[in-house]
Amino acid sequence: MTQYQRVLLKLSGEVFGGGQVGVDPDVVSTIAHDVAEVVRSGVQVAVVTGGGNFFRGAELQQRGMDRVRADYMGMLGIVMNCLALQDFLEKLGIETRVQTAITMGQVAEPYVPRRAIRHMEKGRVVIFGAGMGMPFFSTDTVAVQRALESRCDAVFFAKSGVDGVYSADPRKDPEATKYDHITFDEAISQGLAVVDQTAFTLCAENKLPMVVFGMEPEGNIPRVLKGERIGTLVDA
Ligand code: UDP
Repeated sequence: MTQYQRVLLKLSGEVFGGGQVGVDPDVVSTIAHDVAEVVRSGVQVAVVTGGGNFFRGAELQQRGMDRVRADYMGMLGIVMNCLALQDFLEKLGIETRVQTAITMGQVAEPYVPRRAIRHMEKGRVVIFGAGMGMPFFSTDTVAVQRALESRCDAVFFAKSGVDGVYSADPRKDPEATKYDHITFDEAISQGLAVVDQTAFTLCAENKLPMVVFGMEPEGNIPRVLKGERIGTLVDA
């Protein structure tokens, strides 16, 4: 067991939608219970949410939209996931702050890294939204950047339908084998795509440990964030 002090959890948009477009409140409620359990155990938690359950810029581009505008739509979708998670966490008595990279004062604080750290020190969950605020980035990369800037001990990627890093995509290749541990250099040289390459590179350059794990079975989020070794550890 590793005892983490401060962690960043990346939840992809897919997770929020339960496989559908939009937000599935039951799923978000379950995630909120899991995160609350972690916070109550004394671990400081930040979250980065994705937005693929609403829009992905690259997909809209393929269907004729301007990439930049489509990416902004993607970033706005992310914020809806943040608000849903905030709502269910606060119902459980967990204090939260949403900080967005695109300023929207009525719904969230602006992204202020030092303030985010203070919130976490006070036991509040900080949910980082609207990605990096810039087109052409993915929320995987944002997760690593936010984890680095808010001085997290590790970044955790929760996946649905896959339980770690494999030698190839297990949904396409039945021969694919799962790694319990892999180095950044190996992951990058093998072109493994479970997390995007920019995220891998940023983690590698800054020696930030990364854990990729599956959401199933239920309860995996508190297990892994409290230090149990599940999924795949990627480090230097
Ligand atoms: N996005 C962006 N800049 C960012 C983060 C996200 O433009 O810094 C846009 C991009 O269009 C992306 C969408 O927001 O496709 C949703 O994010 P992502 O695809 O990373 O979500 P996930 O796959 O994790 O659900």
